[in-house]
Amino acid sequence: MNRQTSDFYYEEAQSVIVGGVNSPSRAYKGVGGGTPVFMEKGAGAYLYDVDGNRYIDYLAAYGPIITGHAHPTITKAIQQQASNGILFGTPTRLENEFAKQLTTAIPSLEKVRFVNSGTEAVMTTIRVARAYTGREKIIKFAGCYHGHTDLVLVAAGSGPSTLGTPDSAGVTKATAAEVITVPFNNIAAFEEALSHWGNETAAVLVEPIVGNFGIVEPEPQFLEKVNELAHAAGALVIYDEVITAFRFMYGGAQDLLQVKPDMTALGKIIGGGLPIGAYGGRMDIMEQVAPLGPAYQAGTMAGNPASMSAGLACLQVLRENGVYEQLDQLGALLEQGLHQAAKEAGVPMTINRLKGALTVFFTDEKIRDYEGASRTNGDQFSVFFKEMLTRGIHLAPSKYEAWFLTIAHTKAHIDKTITAAQHAFRCVAE
Ligand code: PLP
Repeated sequence: MNRQTSDFYYEEAQSVIVGGVNSPSRAYKGVGGGTPVFMEKGAGAYLYDVDGNRYIDYLAAYGPIITGHAHPTITKAIQQQASNGILFGTPTRLENEFAKQLTTAIPSLEKVRFVNSGTEAVMTTIRVARAYTGREKIIKFAGCYHGHTDLVLVAAGSGPSTLGTPDSAGVTKATAAEVITVPFNNIAAFEEALSHWGNETAAVLVEPIVGNFGIVEPEPQFLEKVNELAHAAGALVIYDEVITAFRFMYGGAQDLLQVKPDMTALGKIIGGGLPIGAYGGRMDIMEQVAPLGPAYQAGTMAGNPASMSAGLACLQVLRENGVYEQLDQLGALLEQGLHQAAKEAGVPMTINRLKGALTVFFTDEKIRDYEGASRTNGDQFSVFFKEMLTRGIHLAPSKYEAWFLTIAHTKAHIDKTITAAQHAFRCVAE
């Protein structure tokens, strides 16, 4: 496969854009280096690069593109809004309509606010939780990603009872000392953290179904216990549903799992591909937010008509009959085919799948936390990734990411993907 034009643009990008990319995960550092593919066009399940190569896309832009690229309903909504003006700086009816749809789909959202990214949504839930509780510390779980504000770029200390350390240059030690990070799916560690910091903890922040060290589901009773223990300590529970909301069903992971947080952060899918974030939760907590309460949050672009229109169109598509069943069925086919291909090649492999999202881990271990995901074979993943790319299958360039199916994928795409995987696993085995 010729990718010379991508090479050219990557070189050019490096001369004007730091690292040649606008988000580090787009560089191929996680797969041992190489030139990121410069894409030109998306249509349905396909991406087309600047050299004219076509790929079946499982990145889905890290999650938002659940309808497939350039879905006609979303495209039409954006075009119509563009011709009517895309930014007014005033309230619009679209915001009301979208807020009504979100609060209906995710009942724990008694009130919502729109922002511009998942990062902003999570950041604000933390501020509001601090305003509500009058406390400062946050407990989060190792390997979960919550955007790039200082407070969530904090790594675990040496154990559940220790405060965090900065996970990025530029994050102060004082900020890191406000955060405790414990292993996911480990209630004993969470309890230990609470026993040290419970009465100072404003909120516990968690991806209810993890998407950021691969798809990892909570073990039975884990989220229920987190709720119970956090509330007993007087802390709020925030679900980061930036990936999970509308991914597995029409609603949140919280609706799928029947657990209820105090606040929720949203993003990705709800924007239909345009920039968006939203947060919401219990009425008495949300009333902390300005102009009603003392916690400030604002935004020039917040609730902008273009994102609202795209988001409304996306939810309209997702309400169609059978959407989530189809994602689940194709996900199951893909999982079976990948298993078979790995087995035939003699490559140890574990798949975590929930409906239309899955992660292929190069290990025969069961993956239930970040430690386990870290131990999987990154070199094998890198070989697999590059072989798949060369065969026209576009995956996220990291062993920790998920493959996302879209409603534009068909059985023919899955079959083609499995054929490519048979070859890629054989290359891994060599
Ligand atoms: N929370 C989760 C769970 C995410 O996966 C991400 C992004 O990948 C974010 C928050 C940050 O969202 P954004 O990239 O829109 O700022």
